Amino acid sequence: MMHVYVLCTGYIELDRASMVSDLKPGQPWTVPVTSFLVDHPRGRLLFDTGVHCQARIDPLTRLGPERIKRLTVKSQVGDDVVPQLARLGLTPDDVRYVANSHLHFDHCGGNEFFPGATFFVQRPELEAARRPGFVPRYSPSPIDFDHPLDYRMIDGEHDVFGDGSVVLLPTYGHTPGHQSLLIRDGKRAQVVCASDACYTRENMDRDVLPNVLWNPSVMRESLAGLRKLRDQAGAMMFYGHDPAQWETTPRAPAPVI
Ligand SMILES: [Zn+2]
Repeated sequence: MMHVYVLCTGYIELDRASMVSDLKPGQPWTVPVTSFLVDHPRGRLLFDTGVHCQARIDPLTRLGPERIKRLTVKSQVGDDVVPQLARLGLTPDDVRYVANSHLHFDHCGGNEFFPGATFFVQRPELEAARRPGFVPRYSPSPIDFDHPLDYRMIDGEHDVFGDGSVVLLPTYGHTPGHQSLLIRDGKRAQVVCASDACYTRENMDRDVLPNVLWNPSVMRESLAGLRKLRDQAGAMMFYGHDPAQWETTPRAPAPVI
């Protein structure tokens, strides 16, 4: 029996038009940051590690001078991965695998707290994040992911437990190696955690991309693939940063499945 939990790993305020690019700029918007804990009989997988707990206290060091002009961390005490796991009675040692959807600061900020886990990251993601001068810049995010952790670079789909129930899906475009998470019940697609391949329901429904992206045509293709999983395969879709969805989402310790 598998369970999936949604963890609140931060809040960020930014301009709504940065996420839905055809809207008028100048609307500040507070969005949630989420991570997912999959409790599988063969071990636990954490999908994304959220915003680092220090980002709330020292945003300049954690985010850098450029990024703090565009966004503000709005997290409260406890809105980060270690206390969120504690809501489930877990510590980082209880997590066998960590997968980062991508290596932006709000998805890998808590990586350093999992020195005993095996990390799954798409090869083009880790390579781009480590490349000096890569645009758009990941920096100063090396502070978030550049630790002596057990990173396994994967290429495309990866079946985490070998039984088809928990699969990492390449959804490139937002970044060079973005990935989403698919949970299957037998052959049926049950849950998809899109992460930043789709920020909000509005992006998917209206087929609008955000301003923050690496490659628009690749991203549009990934978005179409996710839409198929939602509309044709009937999967429950979790969007990357959707405040309206967040209001109705059961939070840990309550499971979503
Ligand atoms: Zn994000």
